[in-house]
Amino acid sequence: MGKKTHILDVPFDVVTMEDAIEKVRGFLQDEGQHIICTPNPEIVMQAQEDAALMNILKAADLVIPDGIGVVWASRYSEAKLPERVAGYDLTQRIFQEIENTDYTVYFFGGAPGVSLAAAKKMQEKYPHLKIVGGHNGYFDEKEEKKILYDIKKLSPSILLVGLGAPKQEKWIYDNIRLTTAKVAIGIGGSFDVMSGKTKRAPKIFCKLGLEWFYRLLKQPSRFMRMLRLPQFALIVLKKQYLKK
Ligand code: UDP
Repeated sequence: MGKKTHILDVPFDVVTMEDAIEKVRGFLQDEGQHIICTPNPEIVMQAQEDAALMNILKAADLVIPDGIGVVWASRYSEAKLPERVAGYDLTQRIFQEIENTDYTVYFFGGAPGVSLAAAKKMQEKYPHLKIVGGHNGYFDEKEEKKILYDIKKLSPSILLVGLGAPKQEKWIYDNIRLTTAKVAIGIGGSFDVMSGKTKRAPKIFCKLGLEWFYRLLKQPSRFMRMLRLPQFALIVLKKQYLKK
């Protein structure tokens, strides 16, 4: 197992994007099933109050920092995270990686029509990518059984799950064993971005570490959720101060 660094108890892997891709290669080749989580500061905060989510993050095989806030916070933990490794970017790198192989992928999550639109867009971008199926992320118990049956039948190597946190982490944890997927990743709103429904922040925002600010401008409804960001920073700093 590689080096970990803990941010408010959440164990992040100290990896670059290249290291993360190398790990995924290993996951696809070995015998087991592997869970990848992509927490941002909001999810780290959720885990403080949700023991089940925290346990899943602790049990996951790869935990990468989806938000720049997590990279910032790592300066106060046992090892510094080298860079932001966003779930969306990792997924794009995986598509490049597997495009010309026999590995397959299933798109699960998003509003009705979004996973299909995302699959179409990704198929244009990666013509040889083998997308074996998909389903939206709004389902009742009966439909969930059907979705699971579908996933089992199609046996994708990689299961992308975009149900938002903590639903996606819990769903993956409870169900991965019922599938034959080698890798399952919780990817939040990535299908929205892949489909073109929402736009990723312009590069300059990302470079300055201000992607969160761009998202706030575009979706003011996120304001309440985003109050968790300063809360996160305060708790990290308070812990650091108490250590001294
Ligand atoms: N979603 C879903 N089922 C649900 C709740 C949410 O499929 O029951 C989807 C929603 O459509 C969106 C994603 O989960 O595509 C969550 O997006 P959000 O931007 O909140 O996630 P983040 O990227 O911030 O984790």
